[in-house]
Amino acid sequence: MNLILLGAPGAGKGTQAEAISAKLGIPQISTGNMLREAVKNGTALGLQAKEAMDSGALVSDEIVIGILKDRIAEPDAAKGFILDGFPRTVAQAEALDTMGVNIDKVLEIYVPDERICARMSGRRVCEACGASYHIEYKPTAVEDVCDKCGAKTVQRADDAPETVLSRLAVYREKTAPLKEFYGKTGKLLTVEGQEEVADTTKLVFEALGVND
Ligand code: AMP
Repeated sequence: MNLILLGAPGAGKGTQAEAISAKLGIPQISTGNMLREAVKNGTALGLQAKEAMDSGALVSDEIVIGILKDRIAEPDAAKGFILDGFPRTVAQAEALDTMGVNIDKVLEIYVPDERICARMSGRRVCEACGASYHIEYKPTAVEDVCDKCGAKTVQRADDAPETVLSRLAVYREKTAPLKEFYGKTGKLLTVEGQEEVADTTKLVFEALGVND
């Protein structure tokens, strides 16, 4: 199954992608995680992407399409994948079509704007493996320590309140049009993000027709 997760920043795409990945045994492909890794390692790609990421803007289609194309060509993606944070523009969605990638389902996680900011202020990510947490809704077992790999969890620089608003504006302008793009294909499903992660996961599995 090739899946796309759509939704505003902070809607819970990463968390739900992890749950689907564990359930179906297909990789979560997060362009945001790949870009953060490149920035952390100071690679040429990271240097190119850093400024846009810090300001809450999008990295250029050309760069992101390039890394996505390489990633889905890796062997673990052969039997399916979950795209988390890609596509983020109509041009990126068209690039998937051009690459001949068949998408089975597009799942939108919808969270009203007024709840997004609160969700983002409590969000934490593992600085080593990129796993997602939330201090209230999905806390780590030991404070600030990743359950999966034991590294430190941190707040993302772009989750600062001043950047969150510009990221939401970018989402509305550039990414929300993808709902219409995929709505026309009949592949778009929508679930509403719930307070409890497990409740959203249940709705997600139901929408995808996967047994809980
Ligand atoms: P995310 O972790 O998905 O919220 O992504 C973090 C940041 O990485 C975004 O705010 C963008 O600057 C950049 N980014 C991630 N995915 C994409 C994409 N598909 N297109 C452009 N920029 C992206």
